Amino acid sequence: MKEKIHPQYYAAKAHCVCGKTYEIGSTEKDLKLDICSNCHPLFTGKEKMMDIEGRVQKFKKKYAGVKVSTTKRKSKTKKKKKSAKK
Ligand SMILES: [Zn+2]
Repeated sequence: MKEKIHPQYYAAKAHCVCGKTYEIGSTEKDLKLDICSNCHPLFTGKEKMMDIEGRVQKFKKKYAGVKVSTTKRKSKTKKKKKSAKK
């Protein structure tokens, strides 16, 4: 092995949010996982309710209270027309 080009290799521990810890080899000492084979639906066989709300529904919910006024835009175009006549 060539010297000074390889990163330090650790016997690291990977911690999943489900609580399971794995001992692995890594260049990082401590790893935090969001999902692992202990809790992934593919391995558990149980379907996990993920975010099933669509993008359109999210957008509608976000802007439900916002009223879009077109009056401002109309007045702008009128002014433009007036200036064009001059
Ligand atoms: Zn897990």
